[in-house]
Amino acid sequence: MTPIPFQHSYAALPERFFASQKPAQVPNPELIRVNKELAQDLGLDDETLSSLGAHFFSGNELPAETMPIAQAYAGHQFGGFSPQLGDGRAILLGELNGRDIQLKGSGRTPFSRGGDGKSALGPVIREYLLSEAMYALGVPTTRALAAVSTGETVLRQEGEVPGGVFTRVAASHLRVGTFQFFAARQDKEALQILSDYAIRRHFPEAQSPLELLKAVITKQAALVAHWMSLGFIHGVMNTDNCSVSGETIDYGPCAFMDTFHPQTVFSSIDRGGRYSWENQAMMAHWNLTRFAETLLPLMATEPEEAVAMAEQALAEFKPQFKKHYLSRFRCKLGLHADAPEEFLDQTLGVMANEKLDFTLFFRELTRHAAGEATNFFDRVPTWLADWKQLAAPTETLAKMRQENPILIPRNHQVEAAIQAAYQGDFSVFHRLTEAWQHPYEEQHGTEDLERPPLPDEVVTATFCGT
Ligand code: AMP
Ligand code: MG
Repeated sequence: MTPIPFQHSYAALPERFFASQKPAQVPNPELIRVNKELAQDLGLDDETLSSLGAHFFSGNELPAETMPIAQAYAGHQFGGFSPQLGDGRAILLGELNGRDIQLKGSGRTPFSRGGDGKSALGPVIREYLLSEAMYALGVPTTRALAAVSTGETVLRQEGEVPGGVFTRVAASHLRVGTFQFFAARQDKEALQILSDYAIRRHFPEAQSPLELLKAVITKQAALVAHWMSLGFIHGVMNTDNCSVSGETIDYGPCAFMDTFHPQTVFSSIDRGGRYSWENQAMMAHWNLTRFAETLLPLMATEPEEAVAMAEQALAEFKPQFKKHYLSRFRCKLGLHADAPEEFLDQTLGVMANEKLDFTLFFRELTRHAAGEATNFFDRVPTWLADWKQLAAPTETLAKMRQENPILIPRNHQVEAAIQAAYQGDFSVFHRLTEAWQHPYEEQHGTEDLERPPLPDEVVTATFCGT
């Protein structure tokens, strides 16, 4: 068999960046789904891919070309700093075409602390569905290469549940928390190596740590505006879940909103609403401030000078975010170019007061703009009259269609796929994966997926993957 062209740029970094760790053996791995299109992009041809079955994607049998490691990182979780987190249940196998291939749920590592290093099947199904749907929606994200069941059970809040392993593909797994790991140890040499590595891998045009900071700020400002324009709530924007490459990473207690309310949260532990829909830009800025702090020693010898440079760079976040946010919502609403900014706030206020479904609102508005019949806006006649004054439907219709999805991964549908999977039935999961590959297209036979949850179907909180 031809060798798989794994590269190991991260494993080539100094030893204190990671720990070598083989995945645990699992009793009875079965492949649930493999992403053939993504495998091709990674340079895996059909023959190679078909040889990489459940034994590979479970971590049971790894070819000699892999170099399994757990990466070190730290992070602020809900505002509190942990100097040592790291891959407690994930193992990086290496890179294909420059992208990380990581097994998630593959057993204990030196970073597992009290955890079992495993994953329940539910979070595997969730991450597969959500990350691939996000990709199809056009949002930068880590991807799903494979999902397997392991044939063993794991103990979680809900009791003993089937276990699984998820294969994640990422531009890299460098996080703000990776930089924090070395900053907490005052390891300036490691920070320099990490900064150079991040620049080489993601921002080759950046000439300095300051330019790296600016590039990450730009990516995160665009990312969070994109999330918000789709009603997406990440749920756990800790600094260890804030990717330097600008991809959405870690689909734990995340969800797309059904009924719009700006203070919606999904994490069962987020009681203060820290990571609510409307707080996401502020929290990204908070995370980027932590990132900037780690780079200060590399930016200038005089601390005051470094702080001034960082502050100037961070001040760019808000205007950049706002530009993306306004331009996305302008497109979603089909407004003409000089429609006042206040109309967006007015719209969101009406949506919240009337408890309107976020996705359906924009979907129905797109249909209305196209001259199709809809009674969706009968409840908000004054708002509709205002909209008509400010909208330019003929010029903007194509854009509205591009920005307003017909299908999003609704939380109750994700839950249905998880519950069926726990019963050994993967048909719901497969159906949703396929339907959500074309979120902006009118499809036949997916009308039921447009429907918001009935009152008894609403999922109010999702749990972390742990
Ligand atoms: P997350 O909430 O997924 O961002 O994970 C936060 C930290 O907890 C990371 O260091 C994970 O590796 C670790 N962790 C989460 N679940 C487990 C588990 N089942 N076993 C060991 N470590 C875990
Ligand atoms: Mg994480």
